[in-house]
Amino acid sequence: MEKTQKLIIIGSGPAGLTAAIYASRADLSPLVIGGLQPGGQLMWTTEVENFPGFVHGIQGPELMQNMMDQAKRFGTTIINEDVVSVDFAQQPYTVKTTSKEFKAEAVIVATGASARWLGLESETRLRGHGVSACATCDGAFFKNKIVYVVGGGDSAMEEASFLTKFATSVTVIHRRDTLSASKFMQERAKANPKISFIWDSEVVEVLGEKNMTGLKIRNVKTNAVTEHTGDGLFVAIGHTPNTQIFKGILKMDDRVGYLMSDDGINTPIPGVFIAGDVFDFKYRQAITAAGFGCMAALEAERYLASKE
Ligand code: FAD
Ligand code: NAP
Repeated sequence: MEKTQKLIIIGSGPAGLTAAIYASRADLSPLVIGGLQPGGQLMWTTEVENFPGFVHGIQGPELMQNMMDQAKRFGTTIINEDVVSVDFAQQPYTVKTTSKEFKAEAVIVATGASARWLGLESETRLRGHGVSACATCDGAFFKNKIVYVVGGGDSAMEEASFLTKFATSVTVIHRRDTLSASKFMQERAKANPKISFIWDSEVVEVLGEKNMTGLKIRNVKTNAVTEHTGDGLFVAIGHTPNTQIFKGILKMDDRVGYLMSDDGINTPIPGVFIAGDVFDFKYRQAITAAGFGCMAALEAERYLASKE
C-alpha cells in the first residue's frame, strides 16, 4: 500500500506543473499524475510567443520540459499515467491510475481540455505548420496571409475577428447555412470587410507538404469539391474538457462538461481544488492556466496547514 500523499495533482500542463512548482517549494512533495499527454496542450505547438519571460519565444515542448524540470528540482514526483477514477467521498481521498491506487489529503484537478479537430490526416500532419486551434496563440504568424476558420459558433467568430488584425483575408467555412454564434458576435463578424463566408461546406483536405498551401473544400449540398489557396487554417469547432472521470463527483456544466466553481479554484469538497482549462473556457491560455495552478497550490497549502 502506497503512503498517503499530502497532495496529488492530476494533470501536467501549465496549470498542474505550476501548482507542482509552488507546492514543492512549500515542502509538500506533491505527486503529479500527468496523464498520457505529459506537458499538456503546448506539446502540440511550435513557437510560444506570449508566455512572459521569453523575449524571442520558446518552443511549446521546451517550455513544458522546463516546467517539469523546475517542479522536479524542488521535490515533485511525476508519473505519466492516466487517472481512471477518483473517490472524494472520504479522507484520505483515493486516486486510481491504470496501474495503482494512491491516497491523498488534498487533490488539485488540472486535467485541461482538448481542442476538437476535424480528424483529417493532413490536418494532423500540418499542425503547427499552418494548422492551428488557437488564434490568440498563432495569429501573429499570419501577417499579410490568407487564412480560413472552420466553425460557426462564438469561438469561430472570435477567432475570425481577431485574425483580421494580421491576415489580408479571413474566410469562415461552416457546414451549415446559419451560424450558431450569438447575434452580437455574428453581426460583428459579418460587418468586418476582411471576413467572408463559405456556407454548407466542409474541409476535406489540407494541402501542402511542409507548410499549408491551400484547402480542398466540399459543398455538402452539391458534393462539389473545390480547391482554395491559403496559408492558415484555424479549427474552431469547440473544446472538450477532460472531465469524464469526475462525472457525478464534481460540479460541471451539462452541455460540454467544464468544471464549475465560483472562483475557478475552490470546490465544495474540502481539500479538492481545480485549475486551468478544465474550468476556464473563456481565456484558455498557458499563462492563465499557470496562474490558476499557482492559486490552487496556495489554497492547498493553506488547507493542509489548517488541518495540522
Ligand atoms: P492542458 O495543457 O490541457 O493539460 C492537461 C493535462 O492533464 C495533460 O498533461 C493531460 O495529460 C492531463 N490529463 C488529462 N486527463 C487526465 C487523466 N484522466 N489523468 C491524468 N492526467 C490527465 N496558450 C498560450 O498561452 N500561448 C500559446 O502560444 C498557445 N498555443 C497553443 C497551441 C495549441 C496548438 C493549443 C492546442 C493550445 C495553445 N495554447 C496556447 C493554449 C494552452 O496550451 C492552454 O491554455 C494550456 O495548455 C492549458 O493548460 P492546462 O494545464 O489547464 O491544461
Ligand atoms: P460551439 O458553440 O459548440 O460551436 C461549435 C461550432 O463548430 C458549431 O458551429 C458547429 O457546427 C461546428 N462544428 C462542430 N463540430 C464540427 C465538425 N466536426 N466539423 C465542422 N464544424 C463543426 O463551440 P464554441 O464556439 O467553442 O463555443 C463554446 C462555448 O463557449 C459556447 O457556450 C460559447 O458561447 C462560449 N464562447 C463565448 C465567447 C464569447 O462570448 N466571447 C467566445 C467563445 C466561446 P454546428 O452548428 O453545425 O453543430
